[in-house]
Amino acid sequence: RIAYVNGQYVPHKDAAVHVEDRGYQFADGVYEVCEVWRNTIVDMPGHIDRLDRSLKELSIGWPMARSALEFVLREVVRRNRVHDGIVYIQVTRGVSRRDHFFPGEDVVPSVVVTARATSPRAGDAAAEKGISVITYPENRWPRVDIKTVALLPNVLAKQAAKEQGSKEAWYFDCENNVTEGGSTNAWIVTKDGTLVTRPAESGILRGITRAVVLELVEREGISFEERPFSVEEAKEAREAFVTAASTLVMPVVKIDDTILGNGHPGSVATRLRELFHTATDFLAV
Ligand code: PLP
Repeated sequence: RIAYVNGQYVPHKDAAVHVEDRGYQFADGVYEVCEVWRNTIVDMPGHIDRLDRSLKELSIGWPMARSALEFVLREVVRRNRVHDGIVYIQVTRGVSRRDHFFPGEDVVPSVVVTARATSPRAGDAAAEKGISVITYPENRWPRVDIKTVALLPNVLAKQAAKEQGSKEAWYFDCENNVTEGGSTNAWIVTKDGTLVTRPAESGILRGITRAVVLELVEREGISFEERPFSVEEAKEAREAFVTAASTLVMPVVKIDDTILGNGHPGSVATRLRELFHTATDFLAV
């Protein structure tokens, strides 16, 4: 395997950044994960736009021209012969003597790009059965709209899920409303068939997959509301699912101890997952 580190393609086993990289010491950096499907990167412009926004919000400079970064992503996918899988991009504020204050202008951001195969397509096997999720109190900072590498709360929530035999943790806020998953956006379909997801402006990451699914929902004429929903409402839902570039549309069949519907993936989630396959024909670049 090959990784890209600060201007060079190196064997994955030797890929390293300096011990005083601010990503390592302060989690002072941002990242993106894009799906790779049939050798192409799905919705790369959407991911690069969000990377640009994350960098701006943290006043980290662009490490290279946007077109150069796009080239590197494609090149890492190509060199690793990833047909279906993911490509990971990380940009940190760079290497500098440990000090909380931003370093001087001479310090350049560090860039790492890796790719790996998943076969055949993001979570296809799991999607046939659906996954279970646990609910977990929201304990992250308020700027979850920035895709930072500071993921310790997400790590702890997802590990708690794993220890309870689940794949994902759904955070709930102080009003008992679901915000999102540890690494996914959360959706439900109510008993009357309305699809509900939390507005992107409040307490969630604006998922790229979420945006594509919203387009599909509109195109299909599925009844839809963008509003907060509570843990109780989710447990009474007809079906539920999560979205992320790494899992696409993944049906949820159990929340804590509550089995949803008949315990099998719901028809809306299954349909949207199928549609996503067609939609990505347009999004792959
Ligand atoms: N929410 C969180 C906290 C995430 O970490 C992710 C993806 O990593 C998502 C939502 C889904 O975003 P996307 O669809 O862009 O992968």
